[in-house]
Amino acid sequence: MDYDVIVVGAGIHGAGAAQAAAAAGYSVLVLEQYDEPAQGTSSKSSKLIHGGLRYLETGEFHLVNECLKERANLLRNAPHLVKLVPFHIPVYKETTRRPWKIMVGLSIYSLFSRKWFKRVPHAQWGQLDGLNTTDLDAVFSYYDAQTDDARLTRSVLASAKALGAQVRLGAALESACLVEEGCKVVFQQSGVDLAGSKEVSARILINAAGPWVNDVLEHIEAKPEQMPIELVQGTHIVVPGKVSHPYYLESPHDRRAVFVTPWKNQVLVGTTENDYQGDPANVSPLDSEINYLLEIYNHYFKRYLKPADVIDAFAGLRVLPGGSGEIFRKSRDTYFGKDRAKCPRVITIYGGKLTSYRATSEKLIGKLKKFLPKRKRLADTRLLELPIVE
Ligand SMILES: Cc1cc2nc3c(=O)[nH]c(=O)nc-3n(C[C@H](O)[C@H](O)[C@H](O)COP(=O)(O)OP(=O)(O)OC[C@H]3O[C@@H](n4cnc5c(N)ncnc54)[C@H](O)[C@@H]3O)c2cc1C
Repeated sequence: MDYDVIVVGAGIHGAGAAQAAAAAGYSVLVLEQYDEPAQGTSSKSSKLIHGGLRYLETGEFHLVNECLKERANLLRNAPHLVKLVPFHIPVYKETTRRPWKIMVGLSIYSLFSRKWFKRVPHAQWGQLDGLNTTDLDAVFSYYDAQTDDARLTRSVLASAKALGAQVRLGAALESACLVEEGCKVVFQQSGVDLAGSKEVSARILINAAGPWVNDVLEHIEAKPEQMPIELVQGTHIVVPGKVSHPYYLESPHDRRAVFVTPWKNQVLVGTTENDYQGDPANVSPLDSEINYLLEIYNHYFKRYLKPADVIDAFAGLRVLPGGSGEIFRKSRDTYFGKDRAKCPRVITIYGGKLTSYRATSEKLIGKLKKFLPKRKRLADTRLLELPIVE
C-alpha cells in the first residue's frame, strides 16, 4: 500500500483528519478536487467558533461542552485566527425567548465556558451600532469567538503538511475499489504538467467530502452503505456598514436565530435553512433568502438596505441526518459510516462543525488505530500551534 491513509476532501474535516493522522505518525495523502482548499462549506460558514448556545434548547449539552473545550484550544493555539468577542442578544417585547430563558441559557453556557455574561445597562443601549430600541426589554452580552473559516482550514492543512502529509489539489477521486487489505483509488489530476488519471492505494480511505460524501461512496466499487442525509442550504449576505461586535437576533418572521457580525470592515448577515437537491457544486443564494436576511437586518438596525446594496452573498450546505422532522430540531452531531465493522477500508464523516473539527478528527483516528500499522506518534494536536497562512 502506498499510504496508511488517503483523505478525500480539503475542507476543515479533511484538513483536520490529515493533521490528526499525520500527528499519530501515519503516512497521509489528501486529494482535493478544487485547485484550492476550503472551496466547499468550509468557506461558507458563519465563521463562528462557538459552543452553539441554541443547542442548549435541543438538549445537546455534550455538543456544547465539546465545542467550548475546542474553542479554548483554538484560542490558545491559533490566537491570530480565532478571537474572543462579545456577542449581544437584544430581547424585545415580541421576542419569543424571554429574558429569564436567555439568562438560564447563558448561565449554563457560562458554566461550561467559564466566561460570565452580563446584562447591558439601559444607559449604554445608544452605543449599540444603531440597534432599534423601540420595545427593547433587555440586552445581554456573552463571549464567543470569530474566525476566518477558509484561512483556518488552510492553516490546519499547512500543519498537516508540516507533519508530513502530502496534499494534491486539483485531484478529484474518480473511482475506488476495495481489496482485502485496503483500497485502490483512481483520481483525475488537473494542471498542465501533471494532468491525467493516477492510481494510489492506502490501508484506509477517509471520506471527508462534506456535502459530496454520498457521491464519493457512489464511486466506490461494491458501494459501501450510505447513511440517508439531507442537504440544507444556508445563505449569508455581506452588506455595507459597520457593527462593533456580533448580534444574535431572532427572525421576526419565523423566530429562527440569525447573526449579524462584523466581517472584513463590512457586515455579514446569516443564515437561512432551505432543503437542497442537486449537485453541491451548484448551490447558490436564492433571491428569497437575500430578501429574508435583508428584512431582518433592516428590522433591527433601521438601515433600509435594498437587494442592490448587497455586496456579496454566498451559500453553503449542511449535512444533516435524513428523514422527517423540523430542520431546526435535527441533531447537529457528527456520525461516522464504515464499509464494514471489522477492518474497515472506508470511513465517512457525516455532518460536523468547524469548531469541533479537531475533536472529530481525533475521535476518527482513534477508532482507526487498531486497523492501521503501529507508528510512532509525532505530536499532540491539542497542543499544536497553527501556522500563520495567507
Ligand atoms: C451556512 C452554514 C453556516 C455554518 N456556520 C458554522 C459556524 O459558524 N461554526 C461552526 O463551527 N460550524 C458552522 N457550520 C458547519 C461547518 O461549516 C461545516 O461542518 C464544515 O465546514 C464542513 O466541512 P467539511 O470538510 O466536512 O466539508 P467541505 O468544507 O464542504 O469540504 C469537502 C471537500 O471535499 C472535496 N471533495 C468532494 N468530492 C471530492 C472528490 N470526489 N475528490 C476530491 N475532493 C472532493 C470538496 O471539493 C471540498 O473541498 C456551518 C455550516 C453551514 C452550511
